[in-house]
Amino acid sequence: MRLLLDVMCGGLDSYLRMCNHDTVYAGDRGLEADDALRALARKERRTLITRDVALANRATNAILLESRSVEGQLSELAAAGVELRLAAEPAFCGRCNGPLEPVAESVSTPEYAPDPAAVDVRRCRGCGQYFWRGSHWERVAETLSRIDRDRAGNAGDR
Ligand SMILES: [Zn+2]
Repeated sequence: MRLLLDVMCGGLDSYLRMCNHDTVYAGDRGLEADDALRALARKERRTLITRDVALANRATNAILLESRSVEGQLSELAAAGVELRLAAEPAFCGRCNGPLEPVAESVSTPEYAPDPAAVDVRRCRGCGQYFWRGSHWERVAETLSRIDRDRAGNAGDR
């Protein structure tokens, strides 16, 4: 999906990008005014994700969140139909939403990144950051599967 996070929902950006949602964070674009957010959502055909009731009501396409915690917000997004599954082929930079491209095995990576001959490494064409499935990926995977389980459990109670 193409998403726009308002400034109150910034904690969600890397999760959504790791699930291959094209996610713009309003803070990164310096947008705060409601009109500016709605204009960008319209222009780039993005669904606006916000905790602001008035803003959600005025936007053409919006998902209103109530929870203050990232995990609660992710759960609300899943309930609203946003697919939260880690991407097999990650396409968006978790830091800047730029496009990721695979790093060739022969390329030497900086010290903080693993050897691309051993691990699937990607690099952002926007900010140059390297990504691979490491401990952060594992933690996100755990969080998402916990949300999935909770939702399945709640459905079973009804
Ligand atoms: Zn980037």
